[in-house]
Amino acid sequence: MRQKGILTVISGFSGAGKGTIVRELLDRYDEYALSVSMTTRSPRPGERDGVEYFFTDREHFEEAIRQDGLVEYAVYCGNYYGTPRAYVESQLAAGRNVILEIEIQGALKVREKFPESLLIFLTPPNAGELKRRLEERGTEDAEAIARRLARAAEESEGVEAYDYIVVNDNLEECVEEVHRLVGASRRAPVRSSRFIREIREELQDFVKGVQS
Ligand code: 5GP
Repeated sequence: MRQKGILTVISGFSGAGKGTIVRELLDRYDEYALSVSMTTRSPRPGERDGVEYFFTDREHFEEAIRQDGLVEYAVYCGNYYGTPRAYVESQLAAGRNVILEIEIQGALKVREKFPESLLIFLTPPNAGELKRRLEERGTEDAEAIARRLARAAEESEGVEAYDYIVVNDNLEECVEEVHRLVGASRRAPVRSSRFIREIREELQDFVKGVQS
């Protein structure tokens, strides 16, 4: 059964380990492609333009919005973040599961525009662990960590909109669980509409053949 890829949104509290899980999925399985977002946030040490993000300024970002070049975009902690459209559409058409690692407002817009998308929310086992991971990462100062924790509290209100919650307690188990969920979701009728339509049409042709 040839299908388009699954548009897979992976969200989670800042510090939930999304980046690591996504990298593992890409390393292990060829069927995934990662969408690189555009952002107006400054690069963290070690981040490269075009790899972690396309780093840009407000003016260019707003131009991309006007040109309808983004699948979705959101403002997060004072910066724009958005998903470039062309890559997502071409990879889905080629049958690859495109991963969007995005926050909740963007996830909800994706669900609106692509009802057959799959929304997965990653979370550490508890809030204390979340705070500890953010502090250990050492890439944000105390004020930025406080902002991210406040945002996590807000985002926790929207988790019910997701299809699945995966607890990232153990990296190995978490990667495989996400992979299994994507695989299983391929079997949902909403994502196999072409296959179902084709079978229906063939059956109707058989029925007509019998009747005539
Ligand atoms: P960070 O600054 O930690 O890299 O990302 C901040 C938040 O923005 C994370 O929750 C991340 O998933 C989200 N994000 C990254 N790219 C996009 C995007 O293209 N669209 C939206 N809506 N959120 C994004």
